[in-house]
Amino acid sequence: MADVFTKEKRSEVMRAVHSKNTKPEMIVRRIVSHSGFRYRLHQRDLPGCPDFVFKRAKKAIFVHGCFWHLHAKCSNVRIPKSGKKYWLPKLKKNHERDKVIRAQLKKMGWLLLTIWECELKKINNTEKRIKRFLEN
Ligand SMILES: [Zn+2]
Repeated sequence: MADVFTKEKRSEVMRAVHSKNTKPEMIVRRIVSHSGFRYRLHQRDLPGCPDFVFKRAKKAIFVHGCFWHLHAKCSNVRIPKSGKKYWLPKLKKNHERDKVIRAQLKKMGWLLLTIWECELKKINNTEKRIKRFLEN
């Protein structure tokens, strides 16, 4: 069967499908790239496959969607009443998993920064936090 997409378009579609390059992550990527620090994306040999890994400095950044990672007291986390039974256990599981992953990485000597999707609304603050994290 003929490929309906150009090569570029196809990889764009595939990326969307795999939801790796979500919008919040792209915003953070822009900031991190400008910082001049060398990083790797989604390093699979580390617990939780952190979104940004700065190997030499042993630092990692996670970019979390508020809903999926159940950001506490966040207005982005709106679970429809009818779906609570379905969603809550799922999201709580994600949340617990994040905690375990963070603890594992810290034990291994990694410094961590978590950026929440909602924090990207205050992009200047977020940028400062990321720079402070990377430079210190
Ligand atoms: Zn949030």
